[in-house]
Amino acid sequence: MRLKVLGAYGASDAEHNLTGYLLDDWFAVDAGTLTSKLSFAQQARIQGVFITHPHADHVRDLPHLIHNRFSQNTGSLTIFALRDVMDLLTKNVFNGVVWPDFSSIGSPLSGKPIVQYRALVPGKKVAFNGISLTAVPVDHQIPAAGVIVEMGGQSIVFTGDTGPTSEIWKRTNKTENVVAVVTEASFPNDQQTLADETAHLTPQSFGDELKKITTDAPVYASHRKLPFERDIESQIKNLRDRRARVLLEKNYTL
Ligand SMILES: [Zn+2]
Ligand SMILES: [Zn+2]
Repeated sequence: MRLKVLGAYGASDAEHNLTGYLLDDWFAVDAGTLTSKLSFAQQARIQGVFITHPHADHVRDLPHLIHNRFSQNTGSLTIFALRDVMDLLTKNVFNGVVWPDFSSIGSPLSGKPIVQYRALVPGKKVAFNGISLTAVPVDHQIPAAGVIVEMGGQSIVFTGDTGPTSEIWKRTNKTENVVAVVTEASFPNDQQTLADETAHLTPQSFGDELKKITTDAPVYASHRKLPFERDIESQIKNLRDRRARVLLEKNYTL
């Protein structure tokens, strides 16, 4: 599978982008960065988006991705999220104040709804256009879930934001042919207290999570906060685990 990393940081400036990933050009995980880095035609190819949690750095571009669907003669966009996460999105984002509830408005081009919401049950695998998705809750400050995506005989795991966690690692260890794990290391080691209080990882606690993963796939640290990205990178290298990598904003072939 191809993984296009549109945003690999937990903060943004002119050169660093908020969390957003694209698999084989048509399935996205998180929407901090999607429209801002994709052409109109590239956006029209996206058929589904999994949202890990409703924090602004993971949903910033979602309203615009949905809005652009109005003038794209393409199928509807399916938004996937854990049920509790979907409830928060509909209450706090698509609530008719911050943004309309576009699931009730038909496309002027196709007459069909431009967006559908699909709430997921924790741990239950669902099929979508030939791939399968399993939402697995993680430990963040608010309801949040990572996702295991099985696509073309390969599997990839995204935790989204999380502090120390366990269920998703048990699932990962039981999943066949995992080609990559994308988790986080938000703060440098000297900010461990802040990381713990905000339910994030540092390279040190990322290293503790690594010990829970038995698969031999690369494990990427995403969501580095600015301006600590270099410190976090060198601390990840110092773990001396050949699986441990930092995630970069580039295209990966897995
Ligand atoms: Zn975040
Ligand atoms: Zn968050």
